[in-house]
Amino acid sequence: MKTKIVWVFIATGSVVWAAHSHHEHTKDSRQVVFEQFPTSRDLLRPDVGPVIDQIIVRHGRKECETVILTSEFHTHLGIYAIVGAKMGIRAREYFGVGLDELTVESFAGSQPPISCLNDGLQASTGATLGHGTISLSSVTAPRPTAKFTYDGTIISLELKEAYWQQVRQDIGGIIDQHGLGGSKEVGHMT
Ligand SMILES: [Zn+2]
Repeated sequence: MKTKIVWVFIATGSVVWAAHSHHEHTKDSRQVVFEQFPTSRDLLRPDVGPVIDQIIVRHGRKECETVILTSEFHTHLGIYAIVGAKMGIRAREYFGVGLDELTVESFAGSQPPISCLNDGLQASTGATLGHGTISLSSVTAPRPTAKFTYDGTIISLELKEAYWQQVRQDIGGIIDQHGLGGSKEVGHMT
């Protein structure tokens, strides 16, 4: 069994790649219930519909669909959930694999808002609690970091510190604007 650890740092918008894909995509399709994923403007909420074409051009249709699925599952548009979705997509691209082919270990803990990352990781990789293919590392200081394993090879993705700081500032701004109001509410907004 070969095991190597490759540290790849990701940010919302840029990626530093450490290697190439190992093989072609296999199970890339999400078509379980939908024949087509609903990304047309008239099917989307008023705050998303007008910018959906721009999002698809900038981030690609697959990432857009994954973030939509993540947001429906997560029940709101959350920063950490979206970062987790992007991480999972990058991991699949790195290994060149489809859904349900990776195992994931999250370092984001179980306390929102940072643990919201876990929902994005699940939606983007198909590694779910239900499948038993995602686990939480027991950490005292949660981080937006996850390890992805495929065929004995492990990579670790971590949000760049500068972007993590931006996320924390944005969440701090939400707290300033809306008050603390209990961590549950803040967690729900982030
Ligand atoms: Zn959240």
